[in-house]
Amino acid sequence: MKPTPAMSIDVEDWFQVENLRRVIPRDSWPARQLRVERSMDRMLQLMADFGVRSTCFVLGSIAERTPQLVRRIADAGHEVASHGYDHGLIHESDRASFRTDVERSKALLEEISDRPVRGYRAPSFSVTDWALPILQGAGYEYDSSHFPTTIGHSRYGRPSVLHKTRPLTSHAGLVEVSLSCLPIGAHALPWAGGGYFRLIPYPAFRAGVRRIIDSGSPYVFYIHPWELDTGQPRVSGLKRSERMRHYLGIERAEARWTSLLRDFRWGTIAELVKRDAPPFLLPAIDVALTGVVGGERQPRVTVALE
Ligand SMILES: [Zn+2]
Repeated sequence: MKPTPAMSIDVEDWFQVENLRRVIPRDSWPARQLRVERSMDRMLQLMADFGVRSTCFVLGSIAERTPQLVRRIADAGHEVASHGYDHGLIHESDRASFRTDVERSKALLEEISDRPVRGYRAPSFSVTDWALPILQGAGYEYDSSHFPTTIGHSRYGRPSVLHKTRPLTSHAGLVEVSLSCLPIGAHALPWAGGGYFRLIPYPAFRAGVRRIIDSGSPYVFYIHPWELDTGQPRVSGLKRSERMRHYLGIERAEARWTSLLRDFRWGTIAELVKRDAPPFLLPAIDVALTGVVGGERQPRVTVALE
């Protein structure tokens, strides 16, 4: 049987993104008015309309400001997972700060939702080798931060312990659930959401998703509430690439996402790991060992859509 595709949402607000980092200082975040609750409620309604359940990777600092939203997500049957506490990139952090971040966000989300938090997704997919054993030690069962694309990406982590293209890997008890890529020729294109989803004509995107699913491979999609928020403030002073990545195709994102909800049967990542992972899981190298042996690799820095 083919694995059920997994829908995931990174629950953060429009200003908490790397593309706006140069013009929106982090210390201004706490005073900013939130728009995420309204956008997320719209998404919850759309998912209810199509009977879709998803995994919601909630940012800890958002959960603190909108605990009622976290409860609504959980009560609607979605999986609450962690997007860390304050959206710091892992490769700009250190081990001790990262451990504090992932332990704090997990405890906070479990307290608010009254359910166990099993999964983690790194801000901007910035996962590193050394982060994996820390996640496992903090009690996470899976990580969904690896983007095994062959196209160079700024900020994306490239853990050496993970298989370059395999969609699911287990290592020392932690399951890595990769974001999906579409093989085209010698390349694996990001085919999981973000700017690509908003840019590529929908029928072509859907055909790619079908191809991945028909191949028997697990499929994982991701989106953010701000991608559907056409009323968000337009920030000036951005570079062209930053503006494109953040705003490109925002006006058609809701219609496209609605079509995607309608066109496939979706489940959560926890279900994918529990029910569908075993046939795919092949042990990787023990991360506890390679965390030392492999050292800390920095991601390649290039420009791409996110
Ligand atoms: Zn994020």
